[in-house]
Amino acid sequence: MFQLDLLKGKRILVTGGGTGLGRSMSHRFLELGANVVICGRREDVLEQTAEELTKETGAEIETVRCDVRLPDAVEAMMDRIWQKRPLDILVNNAAGQILAPTHKMSSRAIDAVLGIVLHGSAYCTVAAGRRWIDAGERNKVVMSILTVSALMGAPFTVPSAMAKAGVLAMTKSLAVEWGPRGIRTCAIVPGLFPTEGAWSRLMPKERGGDEELVKTIPLRRVGEHIELANLAAFLVSDGAAYINGDAVVIDGGKMQSGGGGASTQSMLDWTDEQWEAIRPKKK
Ligand code: NAP
Repeated sequence: MFQLDLLKGKRILVTGGGTGLGRSMSHRFLELGANVVICGRREDVLEQTAEELTKETGAEIETVRCDVRLPDAVEAMMDRIWQKRPLDILVNNAAGQILAPTHKMSSRAIDAVLGIVLHGSAYCTVAAGRRWIDAGERNKVVMSILTVSALMGAPFTVPSAMAKAGVLAMTKSLAVEWGPRGIRTCAIVPGLFPTEGAWSRLMPKERGGDEELVKTIPLRRVGEHIELANLAAFLVSDGAAYINGDAVVIDGGKMQSGGGGASTQSMLDWTDEQWEAIRPKKK
């Protein structure tokens, strides 16, 4: 799909790159010639992923243990990364999620999600952006991984929806503020992509797994990691150099299926007999 040197020479930090979609994006970036750094809180997970990715792609990958909720830890991580070579691309991917009735959420739970997604993305973005701007470096990218809830809201995952909406606002605001300085911002809005993290938090067995949900997706399937990783690779590449401040939805059309007006979505699975029954009869 891409030339194998699409990301050659690009140094990319993927926060939360040790697992799930972060791991899949890192894998694709490495295949396309990038120099990749992954961070997360669990060192053993990072080390294991790094070993696997090197085996799978033949490319070296760096790991940094960092809790993105802590501004000092983020600065220390960036110092360490910059000491070797400045970043070209930051991918804000680390996230946490809690599925619960909002009125029963503790302030700790709310803070935990806002801390990782909203504060963590802001700390990482500002830490990278400040370094780029101070050095007068151009052609840099910040890409954030959002959720459909950032655009549409979502019950029972309210702190995440709030935090991701905040990151979208950051993406749009910085596109204007940092665009003239040669830094562009963009985002991906993924639909359902099976990962251990997301599935364990959002698809508990009590909810009946994901079968019912798949029926609500117009393409009748969940996303494949390589589909999101390819979109990510394109968006951070120089091929997308004129995309600034936008968020690209990749969800099999699910966001469109809310339907307005007469809520005709429920008729998607109607049989011919059901349609025949409502056909206006000749008088
Ligand atoms: P995941 O595997 O649970 O990934 C989350 C990653 O974030 C983990 O590697 C985790 O590592 C890291 N992380 C969490 N808290 C952190 C912190 N304080 N500091 C640094 N790293 C931290 O989940 P995923 O499904 O791949 O999600 C990846 C991204 O896609 C997230 O932004 C998520 O909101 C978005 N997304 C996913 C889906 C989906 O269907 N999978 C849908 C929409 C959006 P540690 O625990 O080791 O820190």
